[in-house]
Amino acid sequence: MSALGTSTKELLSPALWLRYLSTLICFPSVDFKDDCQPSPSHNATFGWDSRSNLSALFLHAENTSYYTSREINSLAQGMACAQNVAIITKIIDLFVYRSASSYSFNLLPAITNFNYNLAASDVMADYLINASNSNETWHLIFNGNVCYSLGYACTLNYYLQGMTGLWYTDIRLEQFKTINSTIYTNLKALDIDDISIRDALYYFNSYYNNILLPANYRGQITYADMTRWLYDNYVPIGATPWLVQLNHTFTPVQYNLTVRPYFPSSYNYGIGKNFTFDANVTIGAVKFGATQTISFNSHRHMINHLRVFKTNDSNEVPWNSIIRDYDNAIVTINLAQPIQAGTSILIVVNYTGLIDNNPGEGTYMNWDYLDFNKQKSWIFATDFEGGPSTRSLAPCYDEPHYKASWYVTVQYPTDMVALSNALEERTRNLGNGLSETTFKPTPKMASYLLAISVGDFAALRGRTNNNMLVRVWTWTGMQNNGELSLRAAIDTINYLSSTLNKSLPLEKLDVLALPQYSGRSNGAMENWGLIISGYLSCLWNPDYSTTAQLTDTYWTISHETTHQWFGDLVTLDWWNYIFLNEGFATYWPTVVMSVTYPDQADWAHYSRFNDAERSLRSDANLQSTRPIVVPASQLAGYCVFCYQSYEKASSLIHMIEQTIHRKNFDLALHNYLNVYEYSTAVDTDLFEKFTETAMNDYPNVYDWNGYPLNVTNYVRPFFYLQTFPLIKVVSSPDGLSYTYQQAPYIQNGLPNNTVFLWNIPLWTEPVQDYLPWLISQKSLNNDFLSGWNIVNPRRKVYARVWYDDPTWAPIQNQIQSNLTAFDPITRASFIADTHALVNQQLVPWSRLLNLIKYAANVPELPTWGIVNSIFDDLLIKFKFQTADYSKLKTFILQLLNANSQLQLLFNHTGNWASDLTSVFITELSCYLGQSNCLSQASTSFNQFISSCQNSAYGTGRCNQVTPDHRPFQLCYGLRQNPNAASAVFNLVQWYINNAPLVDYWRNDAVALLGSLSCLNDDNQVAQYLNLTLYDQLPQEFFQYVAETDSSGNRLFNFFNNNLQKIVDSRHFNIIVSNLALGWSTSTQNTMLQNFSWQGVRITNEQANAWANTVNGVVSNINCVPSLRILVKIVDNFPKRLKACIDARGGHFE
Ligand SMILES: [Zn+2]
Repeated sequence: MSALGTSTKELLSPALWLRYLSTLICFPSVDFKDDCQPSPSHNATFGWDSRSNLSALFLHAENTSYYTSREINSLAQGMACAQNVAIITKIIDLFVYRSASSYSFNLLPAITNFNYNLAASDVMADYLINASNSNETWHLIFNGNVCYSLGYACTLNYYLQGMTGLWYTDIRLEQFKTINSTIYTNLKALDIDDISIRDALYYFNSYYNNILLPANYRGQITYADMTRWLYDNYVPIGATPWLVQLNHTFTPVQYNLTVRPYFPSSYNYGIGKNFTFDANVTIGAVKFGATQTISFNSHRHMINHLRVFKTNDSNEVPWNSIIRDYDNAIVTINLAQPIQAGTSILIVVNYTGLIDNNPGEGTYMNWDYLDFNKQKSWIFATDFEGGPSTRSLAPCYDEPHYKASWYVTVQYPTDMVALSNALEERTRNLGNGLSETTFKPTPKMASYLLAISVGDFAALRGRTNNNMLVRVWTWTGMQNNGELSLRAAIDTINYLSSTLNKSLPLEKLDVLALPQYSGRSNGAMENWGLIISGYLSCLWNPDYSTTAQLTDTYWTISHETTHQWFGDLVTLDWWNYIFLNEGFATYWPTVVMSVTYPDQADWAHYSRFNDAERSLRSDANLQSTRPIVVPASQLAGYCVFCYQSYEKASSLIHMIEQTIHRKNFDLALHNYLNVYEYSTAVDTDLFEKFTETAMNDYPNVYDWNGYPLNVTNYVRPFFYLQTFPLIKVVSSPDGLSYTYQQAPYIQNGLPNNTVFLWNIPLWTEPVQDYLPWLISQKSLNNDFLSGWNIVNPRRKVYARVWYDDPTWAPIQNQIQSNLTAFDPITRASFIADTHALVNQQLVPWSRLLNLIKYAANVPELPTWGIVNSIFDDLLIKFKFQTADYSKLKTFILQLLNANSQLQLLFNHTGNWASDLTSVFITELSCYLGQSNCLSQASTSFNQFISSCQNSAYGTGRCNQVTPDHRPFQLCYGLRQNPNAASAVFNLVQWYINNAPLVDYWRNDAVALLGSLSCLNDDNQVAQYLNLTLYDQLPQEFFQYVAETDSSGNRLFNFFNNNLQKIVDSRHFNIIVSNLALGWSTSTQNTMLQNFSWQGVRITNEQANAWANTVNGVVSNINCVPSLRILVKIVDNFPKRLKACIDARGGHFE
């Protein structure tokens, strides 16, 4: 529940909420002539007839002596709930006239009961003005019977109290001033004596202050708190994306926004303002249709003041009412008269907003982080593409196609730095510790790209070839870690500006690193001109960061910089076209890296292959497969920011580029950016640009009918369908020919009423002299050539390939005899596709394991990336299956013992692909006890201890081994040299006591802590577990013990021996969820099932955690029979395949 209906002439949220609360007190009801119903106890007291008239009863009660004043008061309170204008007027008459002549019950205070009735306050205002038109009525109100001197409370005093009880806003202040001056004019006209007028003004002035005070203090202190609670509890906090669109009657042209955020800093402000902001926005908009209403977005705002002006003559446009739709964050103004088409207007809104007190989407704080002096600090920041969105910072047209220019001014603590999308224009000191920076106007842009941040920042600076300023901002002390990001941003701008022949309309691009971005330490947002990122995605520390973090940092900043064109210059028209942003931002970084780091081309190729692989895995599963583009009507609950918008779209963009060639592709994008800049686009706008250029440069591309290729028709199934094609290469029974066939990869559960057919370009090797297409389920027969024939080399098409036995056999033979016939990506895609098809039970494990053997001969990343993930999975599943585990271990060790792999152990060359391969190989080798790996770990560990054990500056520089390999060096080194445990423990303590390093460059701290779990001595590890239980070591230690323990019993025994203490601790859940990691034997199952709780009582939540662990082991046990099959590398391949086909009812031809 959240929308509280409409209000008239009342914009302030707290008052609205109060009115809502007052209905809880009043129980308004249509059943009663006076609108109100006293509480049930009064029913009993008065023998209440539900049809009786409350006023009559009141008079009766007052005229007799049967009732106590408390009961009469209750009736008066009930009457003051009336909502109907005529009835309110009647009650005012009653109170005013009766009090003026009353000698029985004192009615003066009764009129104050209206102070919870917003409707009555307006009626009372009108009533008061009317009263001032006649001597007689005015004296009734002003004098009453007892109002002889100003020291005395008179009717007017109570009257104003009742009238203004809910008036807190600037609008009410102005209304009050107007009433005051109208009455003054009226009274002058009546010739009332000056003393009486002066006395009346005295009351008005005192009530003016009563309104001013709440407006300035109470309204923003108490009610900001209260409004926050009510919004948090009764209104959806943002939506990703917001789905209800605005009435398309006005279009914004320009915003002037001034924001003053309040958060702990050197600037002193009233405590009630904490984590709120005061702001003013002027929206310049043009009307283009017939309407008498204006709608815009506003979310979590207390609007103090709203006025509309015509731009040409500055005349104010009066309005009748404001409607707030809280659920969809839309404000609608009903104007008093229509405005003509083409009229420019200004909407001025003065308001207070709420800052979320932790990092997330919307307007938020990075709080409680540690600055370089180890002091806790705060940073104000925004993140608007999802969640509460820009409408939580400023009333605006918060949809991508309403592009406008933003003029931003920020007021902030003088010792801090304020950043926004555009370059600073001027800064001035406002005094009292406050400064103000005005930024230059942004280009015309979508509202979700607006960004503001305030904090204690420092920057690195650089310039692009076109002299654009690029700055990397961090919280002070971290800026030296921003060099890689600076390079990534500059490289990307230089490369894309020239490749796409399109410069950015920006004077500067900032990258801002935050301790937490959106609640995480990684991830980033491409605000135009001000990229905001979690520090792990944009800062890189050579002493502690790994190669994986290096490539991730460069990639992330290149991704966000790419968005400055794709997303910011040209924007998706609506959220179902998000791939227009994310697909390109995922596609381009690897291209940029392969050009700017030509030596790292292997990594770039792997990265593209890996993106496709990640996407194919999600797209292979009925629960996770998604089309890239869905109708807007299906967006509710749809994950727009999921793999399909990123890796899937990027893979398809790559496929288009491969199809129409790079030169045509780049020209198409140049045209696309030129046509849709400062505007928005949909999918077909892009595809049409590709179609226009597809024939531009040789070699020309023709479609399946021999016509020039229409890219829209070509790619539509790839973008609009779930899953992806499985290309099948199937030989004829006589073995003389074969056919290409296609089928959706997901075999069961797809919608029946949809045709799953793709237009597949059939790249093959050996290469053919034209590009054939597979557009139906089955192609024409091809003659069987001697030797192998492969389809989709280097995985250009977004698909997997299945070969039947006769077509696969020559490929396997070629791999065994000379694998260099195939390039590294093609080789890796053989393994990836075969592994996927094994899990689909379409090929046997034997084919996969025979194929994997070639990995021994190639120390290359694509192959080992895939192989490593397969082995990781199997080693966990087989961990406690003793006999089978040793066979699996032997098999993997054979691959690792090859010369090419031995050279990679603990090897670091600066070639990213090679270094990442080395990480996979070193980890697997040491884990499986490979002797070279263990001896290198031991030697380098002893060196580490002697040079680092007394270090007072962390372990980043004294260690000869690079950060990539330190986890293995420390774990397997300490295991072989247990005497060094106390030295390692001291270093762990050093990191705990030097918090900034632990918090921000954790790799060494984590590796050192993890190594303590590698010790062979159970008792020693149990001591560390004990320290963890008492919070002397980080909680993650429990998990490390479970991961490194070969017996599998350590955590379980610790649990058993310390049951009561663990049950009473905060660590119960993490221990229980890890204590049976990988358990899969019946003995282990029995240990859990028969576990004795020794009389210790546990909570329901704890019982659930235990049940989850038990169930996990049961499901592992059920998995074992199928794993057994794996180790029997059977060679009855055709028979097994046939069984597989039969089991699928002949579906698989
Ligand atoms: Zn992105």
